[in-house]
Amino acid sequence: MIYSRRQESITMSLKLYNTLTRKKEVFRPHKGNTVTLYTCGPTVYNFVHIGNLRTYVFEDFLKRTLLAQGWRVTHVMNITDVGHLTDDADDGEDKVERAAAKQQMSAWQLSAFYTKAFEHDIAQLNITPPMVWCKATDYIQEQVKLIQTLEKKGVAYRLEDGIYFDTSQFPSYGRLARLDMKGLKAGARIEVAQGKRNPTDFALWKLSTPQGTHPEPIGKSHPKTKRQMEWPSPWGVGFPGWHIECSAMSMALLKLPIDIHCGGIDHIPVHHTNEIAQSEAATGKQFVRVWMHGAFLTIKKGKMAKSEGNFLTLSTLQDQGFDPLSYRYLLTTAHYRKALDFSNQSLEAAQESYRHLKNSLRQRGIFKTKTTKRPSSKAKKQWMAFLNAINDDLNIPEAMAVVWQSVRMTAIDLPSLKWLIEEMDHILGLDLTKPDHEAIPEDIQQMVARREQARRDKQWTRADELRRLIEHSGYRIEDSSTGARVTFTGRPHSTA
Ligand code: AMP
Ligand code: ZN
Repeated sequence: MIYSRRQESITMSLKLYNTLTRKKEVFRPHKGNTVTLYTCGPTVYNFVHIGNLRTYVFEDFLKRTLLAQGWRVTHVMNITDVGHLTDDADDGEDKVERAAAKQQMSAWQLSAFYTKAFEHDIAQLNITPPMVWCKATDYIQEQVKLIQTLEKKGVAYRLEDGIYFDTSQFPSYGRLARLDMKGLKAGARIEVAQGKRNPTDFALWKLSTPQGTHPEPIGKSHPKTKRQMEWPSPWGVGFPGWHIECSAMSMALLKLPIDIHCGGIDHIPVHHTNEIAQSEAATGKQFVRVWMHGAFLTIKKGKMAKSEGNFLTLSTLQDQGFDPLSYRYLLTTAHYRKALDFSNQSLEAAQESYRHLKNSLRQRGIFKTKTTKRPSSKAKKQWMAFLNAINDDLNIPEAMAVVWQSVRMTAIDLPSLKWLIEEMDHILGLDLTKPDHEAIPEDIQQMVARREQARRDKQWTRADELRRLIEHSGYRIEDSSTGARVTFTGRPHSTA
């Protein structure tokens, strides 16, 4: 019988942890066979850091898992190019405008540049792009309309600098984050003094100038407002708040309720809490069925963040000689709901393991083998064990243990092993069946290790001889702060 991946996985149930209920729940799409997925995208004022990328990789594992169940996935991701302020309390500067002023660029050019850089980073990490990218600046009318609806419903009010959402008018406000609303009210007199009715109220529309009047044609930066991105609105010239963007765009592109909405855990108390309030107050319908949040990538146990100045980008890792997929491999070592502490040593270890895995696959002859449509029962058993782990709220570390075990199982014939690894890699995205030049053969690796030892022992002649041997075999060796880096050149090469 020809194997059907869809049939087998459908008989198993996928469980996902829903932040809303704080429980693992069996997941099925709301309608038919299509899952609607909305993931909060980056604010494009700088390169994303590898902490941000951890969240996008987690969302990619999720999407690939949904596809492996045999469902279609309609995935929308936004690009925040306006309205994200440096301060969550609706003060401070617009991140994109501030960066543009610093770099003496137009805000439009700057956001286009960092959007491209983001697309490049996610491609390097084998993150499958969303079906639709939506930019906040392309959805201004939808945002204005949504705010008008909120005004009509009596849940928005005007202050001198903008239109605000009245959180006391939305009875279940803060449910996602389990916010203690009474405690917050009692403890926040200072913020309320700013003019907001409640400390948790937030801006829907900010005015460029206090009264929203504008002395110049819009679009050009005016010395009085210094803003480049601004639009006319029923309340005056200004720009949307950050939270309204995601509500307006997700509702413009996906039907309610959206099946799954994701982001990092920092989005639970403010951004996602506010998205729910606006969307549900405007429509009276449930906004999202399942909320999923990825834990932080930390560095020395502190959150990696641009504001902390402790962040690393993917290109920095590449400059240090790391392969982006080694970083993806590192992310398979921790469950997405657990913090992962990053260090160069942990990435080195991940790179080692990743290369070792690919070498083991090469040695088993997988790159030269054809797959089969009739895998052996042993291979199918391994696939079920892998799916069991994945379907348990994306337990990727456990699924990786099944991968390693399978590679070592000589009782699985080669075409079946190839089939198995292909199926697993549809979810893992580690290019496990793709031969690449990073897979350094064992004998070369041994020579590299012997050369490293010779260098440590200061036996320079011996180290040079080994280098020449390695290069003669078609590999280039470079010494870096993280150790020797070996790359395949495909031809004998000599520095002598
Ligand atoms: P931002 O551009 O700040 O909105 O962040 C983009 C995404 O990265 C959001 O989903 C954040 O929750 C997430 N994020 C930010 N910092 C980290 C971190 N250190 N580890 C994991 N995810 C993060
Ligand atoms: Zn969002």
